[in-house]
Amino acid sequence: MRVLFASSEVYPLVKTGGLADVSGALPAALAQAGQDVRVLLPGYSEALTKAEGKRQIASLGDPLGVGAEAKLISAKLPGSGVPLWLIDCPALYDRKGGPYQDEDGSEYTDNHLRFGLLSWAAAHLSTAGSPIKWRPEVLHCHDWQTGLAPAYLQAWDLAERPKTVFTIHNIAYQGLFPAETVSRLGLPWDMYQMAGFEYYDSLSFLKAGLVYSDRVTTVSPRYAKEIQAAPHGCGLEGLLAERAADLTGIINGADYAVWDPSVDTNLTHRYKPADFITGKAANKAELQAELGLAQDPDAPLLIIVSRLNDLKGMDLVLAVMPAILRQGAQLAVLGTGDKALEDGFKAVADANPTQVAVKIGYSETLAHRLMAAGDMLVMPSRFEPCGLTQFYAFRYGTVPVVHVTGGLADTVVDTTYDGLMTGTATGFAFEHANAGAFQWTVERAVAMFRQKDQWRKVQTAGVYQDFGWDRSANRYVQLYNGLTAS
Ligand code: ADP
Repeated sequence: MRVLFASSEVYPLVKTGGLADVSGALPAALAQAGQDVRVLLPGYSEALTKAEGKRQIASLGDPLGVGAEAKLISAKLPGSGVPLWLIDCPALYDRKGGPYQDEDGSEYTDNHLRFGLLSWAAAHLSTAGSPIKWRPEVLHCHDWQTGLAPAYLQAWDLAERPKTVFTIHNIAYQGLFPAETVSRLGLPWDMYQMAGFEYYDSLSFLKAGLVYSDRVTTVSPRYAKEIQAAPHGCGLEGLLAERAADLTGIINGADYAVWDPSVDTNLTHRYKPADFITGKAANKAELQAELGLAQDPDAPLLIIVSRLNDLKGMDLVLAVMPAILRQGAQLAVLGTGDKALEDGFKAVADANPTQVAVKIGYSETLAHRLMAAGDMLVMPSRFEPCGLTQFYAFRYGTVPVVHVTGGLADTVVDTTYDGLMTGTATGFAFEHANAGAFQWTVERAVAMFRQKDQWRKVQTAGVYQDFGWDRSANRYVQLYNGLTAS
């Protein structure tokens, strides 16, 4: 099956979150499963620098009238060697900041054009008008940045077109732009209506993807149910409930070529997952020293590797901070996000330097080292479509403490008495996203941490979980096959 995989971020070329991890690993797993996959990505300068074997293969012209030609560059994804197409258009993608925002954290004002072009190119390269002979049977789009691709295909109304799959990685980000962008993007006004891509007087890229693609998927079965109702549907619950028959939840996977402590080049002390006791002790001692935390192997080390915002429940962490400190636990935070939360964490660290360490910023290396050193990964997300860090935590012998939502509900088994006795418990989970429930669960986890035998059982159950991509990739292959056979 020929599949074009369109995404706005792909690890290891450009990453702001889980979408990049998925877009880096899933195409490789699909290729392993015998599929002929190409990944389409904007040619951000960072991506053009890191991509291997670049050569220009076509011109895409200037379809959105930005006053600059877009070129198609063929390359390979470092690591997996998956074929990659980059849209080289410096006027849109050569920027100083990240993929979506400038250095000050403000959204680029031309994001409709930047991701309009990504969507347009994904659609165009899937049709007979493409300058390239290879054309996909399935166009697989991801998140709002590619949402217009199925809309362009619909608008062009061609005899020959691919089947389309749209995957929601996070419905909270919808790509809303003023109505006048409809003509600017070359889209017909008759699609700007409630049954199309209009959303409360704005153009919604995400809604376009949901309305005009043949199938919709999201990244866990639980999230697929949750988004059919408020508040998780973020205003699109009605539409998703209508499309329930076309909506599937397929759990993400973990890329164990990148996230496994025995091969992790970010660690000075690599260890086999099964040898987590000694392996983690060495990493913990090293990290405590480096971060200025008390050198205490018996202090439970809680870690956070996350965007810092309320959706991730980071305000709840600040709320239960006094209880965490009282219990003699340590906390190491790596993240960026809301200024107030960043400042809140920094203030707690300043007041408690031997118990709390906070690194505001993005660091792939530190993320891996925290995973190896930590005893518990804290994820009190208010909602979490899938979550990837809990998979990584399992493999490193780190126990997740999570709110029961989305993919966390599907993948973390709470430590009850039965769970412990049967060896199925893999973490600690709370049902209601409030500080009281979260605090009680942290206290439960810390108490169990001090009972070493029991704690080892929970760690061991996690270490042997297999969330490799092969199973999920096979589910996507089934979905593609079903679509093209229909
Ligand atoms: P989301 O996509 O909602 O941010 P996920 O759990 O799906 O959440 O994926 C987050 C990914 O981003 C993980 O690979 C995690 O390690 C990484 N990550 C998040 N924040 C940071 C950071 N500050 N530094 C390094 N990696 C980070």
